[in-house]
Amino acid sequence: MVSGETYNERSKGKDVRTSNIVAAKALANAVRTSLGPRGMDKLMQLEDGSVLISNDGATILSKMNVLHPAAKMLVELSQAQDVQAGDGTTTVVVLAGALLDSASILLRKGLHPSAVAQYFLQAAETACDSLKQVARPVVADNREQLLHAVETCLSSKVVSQNTDLLAPIAVDSVLALLSSNKSNRTIDLRDIRLVEQVGGTVDDTELIHGLVLTKGSAKSGGPKSMKQAKIALLQYCLSAPKTDMDNQVVVSDYAAMDRILREERKYLLEQCKRIKKTGCNVLLIQKSILRDAYNELSLHFLAKMGILVVTDIERSDVDFICRTLNCQPIAHPDQLDASKLGHAELVEDVYMEGGNNTVVQFTGISNAGSTVTVLLRGSNELVLAEASRSLHDAQCVVRCLVQEPALMAGGGAAESRAAMALRQHARTRSGQDAYCWTAFADALEVIPYTLAENAGQNAIETVTELRAQQAKGVVGAGIHVKTAQVEDMFAQNVVQPLMVTTSAIRLATETVAMILKIDDLIVVR
Ligand code: ADP
Repeated sequence: MVSGETYNERSKGKDVRTSNIVAAKALANAVRTSLGPRGMDKLMQLEDGSVLISNDGATILSKMNVLHPAAKMLVELSQAQDVQAGDGTTTVVVLAGALLDSASILLRKGLHPSAVAQYFLQAAETACDSLKQVARPVVADNREQLLHAVETCLSSKVVSQNTDLLAPIAVDSVLALLSSNKSNRTIDLRDIRLVEQVGGTVDDTELIHGLVLTKGSAKSGGPKSMKQAKIALLQYCLSAPKTDMDNQVVVSDYAAMDRILREERKYLLEQCKRIKKTGCNVLLIQKSILRDAYNELSLHFLAKMGILVVTDIERSDVDFICRTLNCQPIAHPDQLDASKLGHAELVEDVYMEGGNNTVVQFTGISNAGSTVTVLLRGSNELVLAEASRSLHDAQCVVRCLVQEPALMAGGGAAESRAAMALRQHARTRSGQDAYCWTAFADALEVIPYTLAENAGQNAIETVTELRAQQAKGVVGAGIHVKTAQVEDMFAQNVVQPLMVTTSAIRLATETVAMILKIDDLIVVR
């Protein structure tokens, strides 16, 4: 006989679990329609009134005002996938929703939540191992293979019609980093600068083996372009240094005032001459160091000396600029030295057609390659922001393939293959694990089901055909939503990094296991 207290605790745990599962599933359902190339996009109005269009799971969820703590775990799940793999952020959430569905059926059958969580974690490892065995290796930085994977990633984005242009840019930008860093094959995507400029269309986007600064050169009458540029980055104030003490100078007559102004002018001119003497003909000045009164005058002197000046360089950009241009920041006049200067064949102002803005472009940099810049164009902010997110996802796909050079077929092939392997394993068992593994396999098939549903196909028929093809041993059999057929996706070049799929399976399972083990919700105010 169960005591009253124990009974109450049990029913409370059950209620909390049910509420968590319902909330998390609701969130997963919200992004389910976005999965795949035929998935829908979401138009979101944010708190500040701005508008956003996206198809990316992590972006959609991060902007939603989610209140339920269990649903918040799914938001974090998609963010974790974003950090880990960069792509598959919708997949991971849809998968977690399906796993919770399967888990709730098992719980209703009387299985203990801890047991379900444990068997699910085992099943996830088995599923990933089975995929490792059938994945295709990527031959050392094979551009063709990388392109196919990136094209698959971009095919489901809002900017999919620009795949032909964006895919090579994504691949080449990451490969450029790799070629400069052969000994260490880790890629830091922060070394790729995405410069967004309104105007033109996404098709005007270009990869620049150099640098682009979003502000044009100073409008002080100086040159707007410079060949064989010698570039200095200045971090100190050009006008005379002020004393640390609080003091006041009382000037009683005009002559004295005139003298002071002349001295200031002389000092400024001296400073500009020192800069010129180093051979510098392009000067970058860090933000907020030109003080108003002398701003115009120093810019005037520099212009007269034929120096192209770019002001307002953000402090946070200094490191990137120095690495790109191979220069060193100069923080004091005494440090002015030709060895601290960078070199570029050409520095010029480029007008962004349609956007009414001018950028400064640096090209022909010696030893270029440690960083690259992508100049992203789009007709409006909405398209530009989504293009930027999509390009980042595409670059993450290349990074995944460099870290783990293995490809798996897309279109639900991977999930369907893993489900088949799990069912085969389950047949060799007779206990609760067999139940859980079969339920896990059912949940994995949510991906092919959803892809077919979103493409307007008969999901049951399509997935049955998919299972049959997989059972015949066609490892790459998947749903090609563009031809509405079950085909060998390897042959169709619809491929994705193995790491994206395995990471999604592992992370979704971990989150579901965590949700299952929660039996109380404590609100601390
Ligand atoms: P995520 O944010 O999870 O990457 P997407 O909306 O980008 O979600 O969709 C990715 C899914 O679409 C993957 O399962 C991938 O295999 C699938 N996919 C991509 N291209 C095709 C295609 N041509 N036919 C069928 N499925 C595809």
